[in-house]
Amino acid sequence: MLTDHERRKQISVRGIAQVENVSNIKKAFNRHLHFSLIKDRNVATPRDYYFALANTVRDHLVSRWIRTQQYYYENDPKRVYYLSLEFYMGRTLSNTMMNLGVQATVDEALYQLGLDIEELQEIEEDAGLGNGGLGRLAACFLDSMATLGIAAYGYGLRYEYGIFKQLIKDGWQLEEPDDWLRFGNPWEKARPEYMLPVNFYGKVEQDKDGKSQWTNTHLVFAMPYDTPVPGYRNNVVNTLRLWSAKAENHFRLKFFNDGDYVQAVMDRNLTENITRVLYPNDNVFIGKELRLKQQYFLVAATLQDIIRRFKSSRYGCRDAIRVEFDSFPDKVAIQLNDTHPSIGIPELIRLLVDVEGLSFDKAWDICVRTFAYTNHTLLPEALERWPVSLIENLLPRHLEIIYEVNQKFMDTVAAKYPGDFDRMRRMSIVEEADDHGEKRINMAHLCIVGSHTINGVAALHSALLKSNTFKDFFELYPHKFQNKTNGITPRRWLLLSNPSLADVICEKIGDDWITDLSQLQKLKEFADNSGFLETIRRVKQENKLRVATYLSDEYNVEINPSSLFDIHVKRIHEYKRQLLNALHVITLYNRIKADPNLQMVPRTILFGGKAAPGYHMAKQIIKLITSVGQIVNNDPIVGDKLKVVYLENYRVSMAEKIIPAADLSEQISTAGTEASGTGNMKFMLNGGLTIGTLDGANVEMAEEMGNENIFIFGMTVEEVEALGNKGYNAETFINRIPTLKQIIEQLEGGFFTPDQPDLLKDVANSLRYHDRFMVCADFEDYIRCQDVVAKTYEDQQKWSRMALMNIASTGKFSTDRTISEYAREIWGVEPGEIKLAAPYENSETPESP
Ligand SMILES: *Cc1c(COP(=O)(O)O)cnc(C)c1O
Repeated sequence: MLTDHERRKQISVRGIAQVENVSNIKKAFNRHLHFSLIKDRNVATPRDYYFALANTVRDHLVSRWIRTQQYYYENDPKRVYYLSLEFYMGRTLSNTMMNLGVQATVDEALYQLGLDIEELQEIEEDAGLGNGGLGRLAACFLDSMATLGIAAYGYGLRYEYGIFKQLIKDGWQLEEPDDWLRFGNPWEKARPEYMLPVNFYGKVEQDKDGKSQWTNTHLVFAMPYDTPVPGYRNNVVNTLRLWSAKAENHFRLKFFNDGDYVQAVMDRNLTENITRVLYPNDNVFIGKELRLKQQYFLVAATLQDIIRRFKSSRYGCRDAIRVEFDSFPDKVAIQLNDTHPSIGIPELIRLLVDVEGLSFDKAWDICVRTFAYTNHTLLPEALERWPVSLIENLLPRHLEIIYEVNQKFMDTVAAKYPGDFDRMRRMSIVEEADDHGEKRINMAHLCIVGSHTINGVAALHSALLKSNTFKDFFELYPHKFQNKTNGITPRRWLLLSNPSLADVICEKIGDDWITDLSQLQKLKEFADNSGFLETIRRVKQENKLRVATYLSDEYNVEINPSSLFDIHVKRIHEYKRQLLNALHVITLYNRIKADPNLQMVPRTILFGGKAAPGYHMAKQIIKLITSVGQIVNNDPIVGDKLKVVYLENYRVSMAEKIIPAADLSEQISTAGTEASGTGNMKFMLNGGLTIGTLDGANVEMAEEMGNENIFIFGMTVEEVEALGNKGYNAETFINRIPTLKQIIEQLEGGFFTPDQPDLLKDVANSLRYHDRFMVCADFEDYIRCQDVVAKTYEDQQKWSRMALMNIASTGKFSTDRTISEYAREIWGVEPGEIKLAAPYENSETPESP
């Protein structure tokens, strides 16, 4: 049996440790333990060792980071700004070591110091500044932008509390605050010297020249914290800048008494609440004022920063007298990650008109040429529509600007479609009053009008935007609409998370695939090489064993490592249809009960994901799954044919552990509801086969690998639409399908919660009476397809061949491809142009400027 250290040494993609470098790492580590942590080996805790190691690795970033930013300053390439309310980064230490290429060296150094590097890596908190796919996409984009040498910046918020920690107690979800900064964050650098003012509330007055003045505002400061974003072994280090709210210093205020003073200091917290916590909602709009404050806080600080950087550049006014804003769109591209930062559009106009003195029309032209907008969902409940009253109170000047933009836009529509008032109503940025007399601002409409490009995130999704959601806008602005199919970074999602698979791939085709994923095509040559298929199988089995051990050690859950690992991990949402999967689990259970001698492929079904704390049905679905698990896992008749496990607190670091062990990936959303999905791509890259609907990027995955390598079932978008138009009634399906009827009656009768038979009646009712996502309509074909999956799994040679074809077909789904397309077709920058030399390492003194 190999020790962990020996096993890691055998993974050759990690490189070979250099004796001299090992010695330097050990010295640096001991220096940090002594000077930064102020500890010796007698009293140091594992967390001290983690921080000493993080500081040691960070040192290797510093020169590269400074040099990259110097290079941008001196060469002044067009800058790309990725604005997002979420960056779901996960852990940084191991990713940094990988991208810098120091893994093997650090491994050896820590081994020689008698420390367990894997134990230390586990101490790092995930940076959970995101909910799910949208936030993780932003993180994968940062990795690819740095790897492609694009002069890019991520701009977001430094939430003091990220996505909540999920606990499962008695089968229910409980939430705990994610106090991720408690022990400090070794990857961030505060930059108080670049703090910027942000204003809220107040009123608008016209000055004597008729210009609008936003006055009497409440002032808040935005403090930037910078995190380095290293490219893959190219010496590029970009910046992720996250803003934190700081109350202003009322240094000139006179306090009437001590009580006022103390109260004033305490009230600082209220202001600083702006960046206290990430809103834990995925794919749904919550119209809270604090959320709008967060959005404006991000864009107000970011746009000041962007304009400051533009002005200090050659094209700005570094040497000139007057700022030439005409060239702003040639030097600046701003990408909006969904409509969340869309208040940036009126904010840029405000800055150009009210502060820089440009005309409205000039400002508008610059704005449209600068912004691009990515849409992430078709679900109507997720589209942001802010009440006018809320914006009027918080951002009165922005409301004025929005009205002016809308006026001009409505004139355009009227000119093109004279007399078509219904079309004007449908397209207006300002919606008509609803039943409560509330007018709303449609932020997606604002984005489409205020951007030069709008894109969907998978081919199907982009087509549906044009044909349905934004049909009117597509007719008016066909040239603005594009598709940019999402991706994932192969560094984190294969090289880092599945080193044994990465290694066997390298043995066959070399390591070019790490930065050119289409190279994996070369693996198709080995599709009928039974030796290689056996190797793929062995790697998967090892990964499954590791997960089984992890679940046993950490959660006391015992699973059968030779069973089919069927994994469904993602946010809990009705449209993602975890419920459909649960119905399959119950179907298998009912089959076993009906025939205890049934021979079947043993399965372990792993569910994981967080429900938004206020999402009742999502929480009920978790309780259903855990209740079914209780019954199934403790029924002696079932034995190890079937196991159901709910993975507590699914997050980026858990995804990295779990996904490499999947045999089967569940991607079963109702066709037309999942914009893209990126979890689907992670499984494919790791040789997990997909059972899925023709939704989101599943469509393109099937195209790339061929339908014979994926398990497709269910209605197409057209069929879903047709059924909806015809009038969908779940009861027709329930009455026609006895196995489905049985399950729904079990739910209604409290079969899985015998102590509280009514507990899950909402779930049963939702299926029978409000089956919005057509679970019942897809049930029969899903079960059929799952039976095909089981049958296929019995032929391990065939299964492994399919797994290989999956891996070999993932080229398209690298964010390197996605980002190259954004760069060329939206941002107007050419990827891969800069090449930076390695700095001289191990020097004790910094390079001279
Ligand atoms: C990739 C990822 C997601 C997105 O998964 P989907 O299946 O595309 O919804 C969500 N959460 C985490 C932690 C992820 O890594």
